[in-house]
Amino acid sequence: MLWYVICAIVALAINIALSFTFAGFAQEKGYEGSKYFWLCFFFGVVAYAWVAGLPDVYLHSRISQLEQTIHKANAQPSISHGQRTYSDSTTSSHYIGVLKNGNWICKCGRENSSYVSSCSCGTSKRDI
Ligand SMILES: [Zn+2]
Repeated sequence: MLWYVICAIVALAINIALSFTFAGFAQEKGYEGSKYFWLCFFFGVVAYAWVAGLPDVYLHSRISQLEQTIHKANAQPSISHGQRTYSDSTTSSHYIGVLKNGNWICKCGRENSSYVSSCSCGTSKRDI
């Protein structure tokens, strides 16, 4: 009788230990550990296999984080480059005056047709 009790306790201990182990795996993968502890505890091997087959949430988030980092890293130089070209283009795109084709560029940056006497922002062609 005692032997059965010891066996049951050992089995239970092994079950708990395995459940803890697989709950740890589940947690490492980004799942709620306690939930998977009980799943493993009650469903045993089935739950172990399930945990082993769980998609890695962290891995997915890590990949997307990595993608964002790469994206940022790629975007970073283009932003500074864009700022440089922007400051360059401010001189050219913010050219105020009459163009060769007769159109005129207002102070606000709008290009108005030659026949337009005042810009929609209120600036008159004479004021430029
Ligand atoms: Zn204007």
